[in-house]
Amino acid sequence: MTPQQKFWTKVNKTNNHNQCWEWTAAHNNKGYGTLQINKQKWLAHRYSYTINKGPIPNGYYITHTCDNPPCVNPNHLTAATPKTNARDMTNKHRHHEQNITHCPKGHEYTDENTYRKPSKPNQRLCHTCINNRNKQRTNRQEQNRRYWQNRKNKQQP
Ligand SMILES: [Zn+2]
Ligand SMILES: [Zn+2]
Repeated sequence: MTPQQKFWTKVNKTNNHNQCWEWTAAHNNKGYGTLQINKQKWLAHRYSYTINKGPIPNGYYITHTCDNPPCVNPNHLTAATPKTNARDMTNKHRHHEQNITHCPKGHEYTDENTYRKPSKPNQRLCHTCINNRNKQRTNRQEQNRRYWQNRKNKQQP
């Protein structure tokens, strides 16, 4: 039996293409069917899409038009762009971040050197750079203060 034939033995497939064809084997905690093919784990609806409609484009995810997680009817499955899914965007962003190990000035993003504003948890800031900027600001303020102090002193008769 091919993996595909085996797949269909676990589907409650009806002759009606508008009905949901539900996965009858294992499910994950979100209700999606799960299976294993050649030691690779699959979500049943993603596998169904792959064998019926073709490979899923990289980074795309499969949504149910029927909102029924165990359903594997390819007529109820569509590939959606990552843009439409905020959680997916966050994952992609995190993934992107993993490839960037240093701030633009070359300081490493270690746990201690990484700062995230609570209001912008997706934005990573470099502690060293923040400290340097604060120091520069303090220096500038100090220079300003001295400058005005000098001018005041000169103006005095
Ligand atoms: Zn369905
Ligand atoms: Zn830095």
